[in-house]
Amino acid sequence: MNLVPDNRITALKDIEPDIDKEFVLYWVINFKRTSYNFALQRAVEWANKLNKPLLIFDPLILDYPMSSVRFHKFFLEGMKDIDENISKTKALYYPYAEETPNASEDLLTILSSKAAVVVTDDYPTYFVPQMTAKAKGVINTRYEIIDANGLIPIRIAEKEYVRAHDFRRYMHKNLLDFLVDVPEENPLNKLEVEFDEKLIKDIDSKWNKINFNTFNQEDFLINLDIDKTVKESPIIGGYKKAKERLDYFLENGYNDYATLRSHPSEDASSQLSPYLHAGHISPYEIFVKVNELESWSMENVNPAFVGRRQGWWGGSENLESFFDELITWRELGYHTCVTRANYDQYSSLPEWAIKTLEEHANDPREYVYSLQQLVNSETHDEIWNAAQTQLREEGIIHNYLRMLWAKKILEWAPNPKLALSYMIDLNDRFALDGRDPNSYSGVFWSLGRYDRAWGPERKIYGKIRYMTSENTAKKFKLGGYLEKYGS
Ligand SMILES: Cc1cc2nc3c(=O)[nH]c(=O)nc-3n(C[C@H](O)[C@H](O)[C@H](O)COP(=O)(O)OP(=O)(O)OC[C@H]3O[C@@H](n4cnc5c(N)ncnc54)[C@H](O)[C@@H]3O)c2cc1C
Repeated sequence: MNLVPDNRITALKDIEPDIDKEFVLYWVINFKRTSYNFALQRAVEWANKLNKPLLIFDPLILDYPMSSVRFHKFFLEGMKDIDENISKTKALYYPYAEETPNASEDLLTILSSKAAVVVTDDYPTYFVPQMTAKAKGVINTRYEIIDANGLIPIRIAEKEYVRAHDFRRYMHKNLLDFLVDVPEENPLNKLEVEFDEKLIKDIDSKWNKINFNTFNQEDFLINLDIDKTVKESPIIGGYKKAKERLDYFLENGYNDYATLRSHPSEDASSQLSPYLHAGHISPYEIFVKVNELESWSMENVNPAFVGRRQGWWGGSENLESFFDELITWRELGYHTCVTRANYDQYSSLPEWAIKTLEEHANDPREYVYSLQQLVNSETHDEIWNAAQTQLREEGIIHNYLRMLWAKKILEWAPNPKLALSYMIDLNDRFALDGRDPNSYSGVFWSLGRYDRAWGPERKIYGKIRYMTSENTAKKFKLGGYLEKYGS
């Protein structure tokens, strides 16, 4: 088995494993999958090295910020797929859904007291860094967090990249080196020692591990004390659906990706972001499948195009365009969250953006809406209302309309700071891919991050890039979209 590269490993407790303990513990937080997962691979590596079995603990926390029945359903569907995959291997899966707040913290303490090594996920945003740091207090053996976020390791960049162009250059110059160490497709196939359930018999009898053969998800969710105003999305979570979505995209939308990705009525983008966010599918797997489809290999790369949006990959225009989103833009967001502690604060905007926003903060607004009016799609703008309805009811918005959606919130909120807080609230509360490094990329982009000053200077926006619903209506055929999501 390939070893997980050092640039993916951070030891939060850099001590020797406690070899008298019974098993290796992989605590799942964000990389909720069994394939192309460096964190799981590292846990397998330790288990084989120490000749121990592997326990995979996957707790679903009840009241994390913005927690709702929408996300719970999506995550439970993902856990069911993991359960099925792990049941065919030598590891033991321990899926656990809290019914009272913080219960899983006690379970983690108990399980880690029996572990020779604890491995978990290194995710740079939301409450995860604080939670993994806090766990140092209860884990008394070797404890590592592992980066399986993308193709580029998140912890080795020496500076913050403030423009996509600069990050693209960095990626082009280094990616081939990073691709030398790719994650195993199925690390669990390499696990040597079978888990004997007797090892945790005492724990099992006290804690309600989910048994997916008898688990009734609907009943469970109805009885849970959780926000039910954010309704379940029709989009089903889990690896199987993610893979189906990927296959569908590669057979259909991908062929027009470069030209039609921005068209809201076309089905040309992958719609994989909820699955990427939940960790149900790895960006590596998507990368590998596109390469197979296009017969692309590293020999195609054209170094003369370093830093350019088109040409470096030496592939079709669809490949160039798709990888620019999946790799450049997606991973830029992860790097910003690692290199900038205030990534989710107004103060993190570029100086020029703060200056121009403040100069126009008191400009008169033709329309001012409250957060609740925005939640309910109660504005005068039918395109915006439709986009918000899609977000509220289904948990997604098409990328182009998402940009417009954010720009209009800037225009209609009482001031830019409130606009930012409304955007984060709506995006994180309703979007299946929300609470992600790219939630902050997108929201902050609408206020100037990664962008430049634009002219002419306008009211409210100042020099921030401007978008209008009128132009959007002229540019795209929105009839079908408005019929579906309009009032
Ligand atoms: C206001 C606003 C809020 C946003 N909030 C989120 C969010 O909460 N979570 C999120 O993942 N993305 C967010 N984005 C970025 C982008 O809208 C989504 O990633 C994209 O629409 C997802 O659709 P897709 O999977 O069909 O993308 P595709 O076009 O198929 O792209 C493939 C993958 O590349 C990544 N990607 C694509 N576009 C971008 C982008 N502009 N920036 C960063 N990564 C990108 C995503 O992981 C995506 O799944 C936001 C953008 C804006 C303007």
